[in-house]
Amino acid sequence: RDIYPDRANSAGLPRDDPDVLAQLDGTLRTAWAGAPWRATPRIDGRRLPGSEHAVTAPADHRITAGTVAEAGAEQATAAMAGAAEAFPAWCRTPVEERASILERAADRIETERAGLMARIIREGGRTVPDALAEVREAADFCRYYAAMARDQLAERPLPGPTGERNALRAEGRGAFLCISPWNFPAAIFTGQIAAALVAGNTVVAKPARATPLTAMRIIELLAEAGVPDSALQFLPGPSGALGPAILGDPRLAGVALTGGTGTARHIQHALAERDGPLVPLIAETGGVNALIADSSALPEQVARDVVRSAFNSAGQRCSALRVLFLQEEVADAMLAAIAGATAELRVGDPARLDTDLGPVIDENARAELAEHARRLDAEARLVAWTDPLPGAPPGSFFGPRIYELPELEALPGEVFGPILHVVRYRAGELDRVIAAINGTGYGLTLGVHSRVEETARYVAERANAGNVYINRDIIGSVVGVQPFGGRGLSGTGPKAGGPHYLTRFLHEKTVTDNI
Ligand code: GLU
Repeated sequence: RDIYPDRANSAGLPRDDPDVLAQLDGTLRTAWAGAPWRATPRIDGRRLPGSEHAVTAPADHRITAGTVAEAGAEQATAAMAGAAEAFPAWCRTPVEERASILERAADRIETERAGLMARIIREGGRTVPDALAEVREAADFCRYYAAMARDQLAERPLPGPTGERNALRAEGRGAFLCISPWNFPAAIFTGQIAAALVAGNTVVAKPARATPLTAMRIIELLAEAGVPDSALQFLPGPSGALGPAILGDPRLAGVALTGGTGTARHIQHALAERDGPLVPLIAETGGVNALIADSSALPEQVARDVVRSAFNSAGQRCSALRVLFLQEEVADAMLAAIAGATAELRVGDPARLDTDLGPVIDENARAELAEHARRLDAEARLVAWTDPLPGAPPGSFFGPRIYELPELEALPGEVFGPILHVVRYRAGELDRVIAAINGTGYGLTLGVHSRVEETARYVAERANAGNVYINRDIIGSVVGVQPFGGRGLSGTGPKAGGPHYLTRFLHEKTVTDNI
């Protein structure tokens, strides 16, 4: 049973039902007819002009998904001012009301599913199943944090030996900056904002530069659900211009970031350097995620889970599998099964229901992957690859590739896309494997495939990872039941979609009352 029994995760669609699929296809087509879309800064409820840019579809560079008016430093300061001014009233708004607004937002997000999916697919290049799952997750975050706020943020009496009335209260911190990534333009964008708002903070939301159109729609839905205009400010634009203005502002009360490890460091540095209160950074960054399959694992199951973990979403998940460790005795058989499954993947138009991998986010991403593959071509063995389908539109496609590395200790840094590295290990080398994984300094997801219970438990215990998956794939954490987030170079915690997430968005106040 869910710890919040009145809450349920959003229901999916039966995707093996042709009628349901035909209907989905129809609603998506209607939604696409509404393109090109437009995003602008939204400050104190007013949509403002900015520096105009086209938002190109990564799957087809001839298509403009929409346009964005990007904000600059002056608007960033105005957004901070508005959010700081709105804070006292929003913080005093009863938790019950803040939670109800989020629940209404979840309903609006579900009602607007097709429009959101259309934007996610167009500007984010995500496939139809990914977009569907993402909209569900966005709604789930709203409902989960709403339920959690009702449960956790009520004043807590602390009776004790002092003979006084002691109580612990939870209060928002102030104006929070939420910086979200392009790989989950709806779910992560919504999740951060929902948590910050329900905890009593006001928010300045900075969406990823590649995906402002989905974010704009969510801002509108949150406003329609009742979030007061100045409590949620929207700032699409380049971090170079917006970052310094916001991070240096003494009114800034905290930052939630999902993005790169380098960005998290940069923000930590900026927060440490400025004059102003000491504030938290909640960072969820990348990983060099591994999966270990030993000789007792089932090859077909390993093949299915590896291919999904490494190549779903074109490998563009923080959680995606980057390094597969195969025990020598079964390595050839498993690699053959994995190569076979990889060869069948369809790389192409993400709007088609039979596509497995859409594009990577842009030409820079594709060039970086190509460069990494070129290096591996010289140093490693190419085991399998799939090219984009002939006739795919002119987009940023990069077919999945699997390379076998010669050395257990020569793991790559984070490579964000559909390139899987494979390393063989021998019986008796499990500790070396675990040391190599932990030695990357990252600690996000980790998989173990083994039918020997002690092996699975041994690895799960020693792995420095935030999410350990035994005998399954390692992506697609579920809100409320698989809290998500890492440690080390992978992030600060607390875990998104978990029961402690709100704590870092809060101030606690102890009131000792002798009236
Ligand atoms: N929570 C997602 C998953 O489990 C990954 C989120 C991310 O890529 O940041 O796949």
